[in-house]
Amino acid sequence: MILPFFPPDLFDRDRDVLLETVFRIGTAPAQKFILGDRTAAFEHALRLQLGCADVVACGSGTTALTLVLRAMGVGAGDEVVVPAFGCAPLASSVISVGATPVFADVHPWTMVVEPYEVEAAISGRTAAIMPAHMFSVMADMPTMRELATRHGVRLVEDSAVAQGGALAGVPAGRWGDAGVFSFVQVKTFGSIGEGGAVVTDDPELGRMVRMLRNHGQDGQTRFVHHVVGHNSRFDEVMADFQLHRLPGLPARLRRRAEIADYYTERFTPLVERGVQPPPPGRDGRCFYVYSLLADRRDDLKRHLATRGVDSHVYYPSPLPAQPAFAPYARPGQYWPHAELASARTLALPIYPHLTDAQVEHIADAVCDFPGSPR
Ligand SMILES: *Cc1c(COP(=O)(O)O)cnc(C)c1O
Repeated sequence: MILPFFPPDLFDRDRDVLLETVFRIGTAPAQKFILGDRTAAFEHALRLQLGCADVVACGSGTTALTLVLRAMGVGAGDEVVVPAFGCAPLASSVISVGATPVFADVHPWTMVVEPYEVEAAISGRTAAIMPAHMFSVMADMPTMRELATRHGVRLVEDSAVAQGGALAGVPAGRWGDAGVFSFVQVKTFGSIGEGGAVVTDDPELGRMVRMLRNHGQDGQTRFVHHVVGHNSRFDEVMADFQLHRLPGLPARLRRRAEIADYYTERFTPLVERGVQPPPPGRDGRCFYVYSLLADRRDDLKRHLATRGVDSHVYYPSPLPAQPAFAPYARPGQYWPHAELASARTLALPIYPHLTDAQVEHIADAVCDFPGSPR
C-alpha cells in the first residue's frame, strides 16, 4: 500500500457532475467559455460567503497577486516586503510589476513571516507589505494590519492556501486591502485547472482588477483599453464546477482539521526526538498542508517511504537563495529561520478522503521514526 502525497482521485466523486458541466456549457447556444454568467455567479457566491465588497475571479493565484499590485499602482522604484520562505509568486509577482521584493525572515516554528522582521524591512520606498499564510498557520494579520496602517503602506494578503480559514472571526482573505485565493488542484479549494480570485472591500480596487484581468477593458465597451491590462480571465466550466464544490468545502476543511488535531496529539511527544508538529488549535489555522519540522528530515522522509507513506518538501530553499530571486536579495542579509525551515520541513498527506485507518497508519509511521535524542 502506498499513500500518495498528491492523491490522483481528488475529484472521483465529482466525475459525473464534471462531465455534465462540460456538456452543458459546451453545447449551450451562447458558446460562452470565459467570464460569463457562471463566473459572475461564482464571484457572487464567494462575495456572500465572505461578506466582502468584491470578488474578482481570474486566471491563477499568481496573476491575482500581480493584478492586485498593478491595481494599487505598485511599480518601478517601489519595494514590497515579502516572506523569505514561501512560494515563488510572492517574489515573482512583485518583480513582474517592476517593483523590488524585500525579503523578511519567518518564525522558526510557524514558518509565517515575523512582524518585527517585516517592520525592519519597511523603508521610504515601501509601497506594500505582502504576508502569506503558510501550510497550516495564518500570518499574524492583526499586527500586519497595524503595521500597514502605521507606516501608510498597502496590505496584500496572500491567502492562496488559507481559503476557509479564519483568525479572530475574520475570514482569511479579508484582512488585507486585498486578499487572493488560488484554485489550482492541490489547494484546499482546488479545482480542475488554473484559477484564482481577488477579494477586496475597496470597490475602486475591485473595479481596477476587473479591468486589468481582461486587457484593460471595462466590460461595457469592447476594444477600448483604458489601462495596459493582462489576460487573466476565468473559465466558465471551472466556475460552474466550483459552484458545485463550494457547499462541501466546510466539511472537507473540518476533516482536514480533525486529521491535523490527531497528528498533533500523536506527534507532540516526539519533540524530544527532534520531530516537531505545528502548534495546536483551530483559530488562525488553515490546514492546507500539515508540515512537521524534523532535525533529520531526509531520514524521516526515507523512513516514511519504507512504510508506504509519501511525503513532500515545501520548500527546499528560501526565496532569496533561488537563482531567479538572488539578484534581489540584499547583500550581507541573512534569513536564518527560512534556511532552517527549508532544511527541516516535511509535509504529510492530509487530504479529506483519507480514512481513519490511513491517518493512523501515517501517524504510526512517523512515531516509529527513531529520530535523534536531544
Ligand atoms: C499556490 C500559491 C500561490 C499561487 O497560486 P497559483 O494559482 O498556483 O498561481 C501564491 N501564493 C501562495 C502562498 C501559494 O501557495
